[in-house]
Amino acid sequence: MSSEFNIKAGNSSLVIRIGIIIDSNETAAYNWAKYLNETLKRELGNSFPDFKWDFKIIARNDFPQKIPKDPIDLLELGSDIKIEYKFDFVLVFTTLPLKSRFEQGVNAVPSNILETAVISISKILEKYDNQATKKILLILAKHVLGHLWGLEHKDGTVMMDRKFWTPEDPSDWDNEETAQIKEYLLNVADPRLEEMSNPVRNKFLFYLKLIIREKWSLFRDILFSKTLFMILHLGRFVTATVVSLMFLFLTAEAWEIGAAMSSLYLDIFAIFVIIIGTLSIYFGQNFQEIARSDKLMEQTARSKIVLVGTLISGMAIYWIILFLISLIIIYLLPENILSSWAGLNKTQFSYFHFAKFMATIGVFASAVGGNLEEENQIKAVLIYTEET
Ligand SMILES: [Zn+2]
Repeated sequence: MSSEFNIKAGNSSLVIRIGIIIDSNETAAYNWAKYLNETLKRELGNSFPDFKWDFKIIARNDFPQKIPKDPIDLLELGSDIKIEYKFDFVLVFTTLPLKSRFEQGVNAVPSNILETAVISISKILEKYDNQATKKILLILAKHVLGHLWGLEHKDGTVMMDRKFWTPEDPSDWDNEETAQIKEYLLNVADPRLEEMSNPVRNKFLFYLKLIIREKWSLFRDILFSKTLFMILHLGRFVTATVVSLMFLFLTAEAWEIGAAMSSLYLDIFAIFVIIIGTLSIYFGQNFQEIARSDKLMEQTARSKIVLVGTLISGMAIYWIILFLISLIIIYLLPENILSSWAGLNKTQFSYFHFAKFMATIGVFASAVGGNLEEENQIKAVLIYTEET
């Protein structure tokens, strides 16, 4: 049993372990990290006195050296270090610029799935002196930690959504947010599955036990994630679908094949395609490398379940969108031509059947085309909580 569990049983403070990771080659980074470490520890200690805040700065020499830094690379590095050192949360800090994907410029990228965030003060240092930058760095760190602890954007507090970061911005959580964070952290400080007195050694049983124990929070993480509509953000992926569907809609043979498929067979085919599509992206984009660990650990298992769950739900939602679009197109096209292409008479021609068929083929095509997408683009859509 771990020491935290004993501490909890003794009803004294619960430990939250946070790592601040910097590149040992980046000379300016250490002093900033030290400032962040001391200030955060003090402020969090005041706001959340029920917890013991255990911070550690780690300087690594295996940072990716390409500039601007790709937040995906830094998130993956942070997540690996988090597993290695058993941190609860990790902040990867840099004074160098970050590569932006969705916004004009980027200062920070939190990832709830990885419980890791990347922070850069490069853009802020261009505009402000060191004193103001210190203030903004603290605001930025609290903002991303708030996201990692389950908070959404809210006006008037440090969780305010914004384009530019200034030292005048609100720098605290309000009472409601503080209570929400506390509840979240109490859950984090609970003993992990691998720390229980009888740890499960079998991988399958470990995952099963985790799913049963955490079903509602896993369900919430998957279904309320903003990434459910992720596939619509993937240009090449959607293009692959649109092009193949356009050909299908205008090819008589496609309608004939659709007519030849029984409804039951088509349903099974649709489920099969959604699973294949998910696996193709999971392995094609090397998602199995994320949160990788030799030992069975609750948090890495959790990240994997949420990743696969989000991917498969994203695929299913994509199928539903394609189904609805196909239904509208079929409705708009002249029915007599379509039914003659399908070799059916008007009464036999089912809109639903053909919309299902088109959606299924569309997902199939996109699963193949999806891996044309630049590797880190799909990862970013899936694991970024935001780019701010
Ligand atoms: Zn935000």
